[in-house]
Amino acid sequence: MPERTYHLLIVEDEPVTRTKLVGYFKSAGYDVTAASNGEEMQRMLSRHHIDLLLLDISLPDADGLELTMELRKTFELGIILVTGRDTEIDRILGLEIGADDYVTKPFNERELLARVKSVLRRLSIQASSLPDQNSLYFAGWEINLTQRKLLKENGDKVHLTRGEFELLAALVKHPKTVMSRDRLMALVTHRSWQPDNRTIDVLIKRLREKIEVTPKAPELLLTIYGEGYVLASDVSDSPPEQGDHQENVE
Ligand code: CA
Repeated sequence: MPERTYHLLIVEDEPVTRTKLVGYFKSAGYDVTAASNGEEMQRMLSRHHIDLLLLDISLPDADGLELTMELRKTFELGIILVTGRDTEIDRILGLEIGADDYVTKPFNERELLARVKSVLRRLSIQASSLPDQNSLYFAGWEINLTQRKLLKENGDKVHLTRGEFELLAALVKHPKTVMSRDRLMALVTHRSWQPDNRTIDVLIKRLREKIEVTPKAPELLLTIYGEGYVLASDVSDSPPEQGDHQENVE
């Protein structure tokens, strides 16, 4: 990837912090735009191509967690949540809403810079390794790895969070292969907090609710006790024939 200047958007209502962050990241060589509330943020996002958002979660007119969920549906960008709350954001919540990382105030600027760099690096690796068109088909589902969409046979889109999508993609790329929680965690990329094994279990449960006929008696996403999870379906890179009955599991 050629070097280019990344554009950061800093969303922070507290003027001193905002000014400090803008100055710091400009001196670190980034293009920096600032916004003091959710409305301004939306305006800036429509005007500029933003690579990464530093988002204060408590804004006067918006909740940063809700904004993150909304942004994930429409934008491909890095999101680092900045929280002034003294309690940690629940890790699973953070993962679920699709932020790439979060920092708690007061933060060390150098550490924040390191996290920004790490999120941007992961995003650029992802962007450069994606093929143009890349769909896989399994058990009546289509997962489009480029557009990051899951579609039903009838074309209906099923909304997945970022964590859900990545976990499903990891399983679909390794069909009928038992995947340990550790391996799955390693494949669910750009998580810089250390999610524990429970994270995978929670994501599997949510995926089952979305794609299994009977979530409590799963036929696609199977638990292999003591080992991990397996996608118990064939996967094809071409769409099923018209009228072809989708093969069900085992
Ligand atoms: Ca604030």
